[in-house]
This record gives sequence, structure tokens and C-alpha cells, in this order.
Amino acid sequence: MRRMPALYPLPFVPGFQDPDDPGSDPLCFAFRGRELLVTPEGRLPSVEQIDTHGVEAIRRQYLGTLEGTHCYSLELAPKLAPPGGLEFRDLRMLFGKLDGNHHAVAGRAVQIVEWDRTHQFCGACGEQTVLAEHERSRSCPSCQFPMYPRLAPAMIVAVERENEILLGRSAYFPPGIYSMLAGFVEPGESAEEAVIREVFEETNIVCGDVEYFGSQPWPYPNSLMLGFKAQYASGDIDTEADELEDAKWCPANDMPNTFPGNISISQWLLHDFLERNQAK
Ligand SMILES: [Zn+2]
Repeated sequence: MRRMPALYPLPFVPGFQDPDDPGSDPLCFAFRGRELLVTPEGRLPSVEQIDTHGVEAIRRQYLGTLEGTHCYSLELAPKLAPPGGLEFRDLRMLFGKLDGNHHAVAGRAVQIVEWDRTHQFCGACGEQTVLAEHERSRSCPSCQFPMYPRLAPAMIVAVERENEILLGRSAYFPPGIYSMLAGFVEPGESAEEAVIREVFEETNIVCGDVEYFGSQPWPYPNSLMLGFKAQYASGDIDTEADELEDAKWCPANDMPNTFPGNISISQWLLHDFLERNQAK
């Protein structure tokens, strides 16, 4: 049975104060832009492998511990050639190759690197910022403006009508692929309100009985994806007003092609729907 991953125990303990002794072989998540430095097999290189090639980081951040091992992120130069035998790969391409826990920490790491890189100067007054000692933040010594890593909450929803589910496709999806409706939560609205608004905006369908399903960090670039189930209330599908190329009600026993794999909350929601409806 496919479902969301178990949550206990949490293998990663976040931290922000660099320890005096990082241990003999800490984990290094080195990024060139949003690409992670990995071996050809898609594994994390050892510190020795990184050091051997004289790779120098522009900035380095302490992340915390993964099952007791200290973890660091490194910001590398944007045009750095991959050091001997190693490769730069997009995190999304490393699902299923990189160890699952390493992939999860890499998703944190890339966001911390990017936050640190883009908050060196105060957004309010332009002064150079400083790293806080007691928490993961930067602040402005001149106007005290605080800067925390930012998350963009987004929602994805399985709208159901008896044994059918509402799926849509964007023009940029691969040909023939359908997926669940999703969108960003706007300032001032709840996630449940975002569900109802997005479904209506994209398809002209009114839905209700919005029920929380689960969440997933989605570091592309900095989302927290909140999954919901909802029930059809009224309306006929009309995609004219929005960016969707098509939307349709799909019976559980006659599904269109969807994104392959079992890595995202969209897929967990779909499996949940199919498990409840395919046998009917
Ligand atoms: Zn300032």
C-alpha cells in the first residue's frame, strides 16, 4: 500500500551554531545555483573528495545533524566546473538516486544557501546584514529589520465527485499528462480558502468539505505543499478563464496518464483516491 512516509522518528535535528568539532566525516551539500554536487552514481561526495579538488565555497552554513552526523551546506561559484569525477545535478533528478534522508536535507540546504545568498543586504535600508547567533536569521545592524528563510505555502487538492476525481493539464505538462489542481496560498487567505478559490478560478467548479490530507516540503524553489481532499458542490467545467489547457472528471477505473512515480503528495493523494474507489 502506498501512502505518505512515516514521520517518527525524525532523523534530522536542525541546528544553526557551527560545532567546534564537526566530526570525522560530516555531510556536505554543495550547490552551484540550485544544482547539488554528487558522484556519478548520484551520491553525496565525501569531504575528502571535495577537499581533494580544492573546491572553495563562497559561503558555508551549518544545518544540523542527520542521525548524529553534522551537515553543512556550501554555496559554490555560479560558473564552477564540476571538480574531477563529480557532477552537478538538479535535486528533482535525484529522487530515487540520492539516499532519501540526504535528499530531504538537500531540500533544506538549497533553501538555506539561497536565503543566505539573497539576504546579505537589508531589503529595507541596504545595509550589510549580520547572521544572528541565537536562531536561523539575518538582521540589519542599522534598522534591525529581521530576515528569516521564507516558505511559500501552496496547496494541491483532490476534488472528488462520487468515484471521479477532477484533474487538469497545463500547456507545459508533457503531452497527455494530467494532474491535480494546485496553486499558491495568497496573503490573507487560509489554505482551505485557497483550495476553493483556485479550483473555481481554474475550472469554474465549486467545491466544499475541504479536508486536510498532509503536507510535503517542495523546495522548487521554496514551497510547502499542503494536500487536501474536497468534494464537488456545483458547476460545470470551464477552463477558458485560466491557464489550464484542459480539465475533466476522471473515473477511478479509467484514469488518464499522470506523472509517474511515488515521490510527491500529488501522487499520494491520487493513490489514496484510487484505493478507495478502484474496487467499486
Ligand atoms: Zn536595514
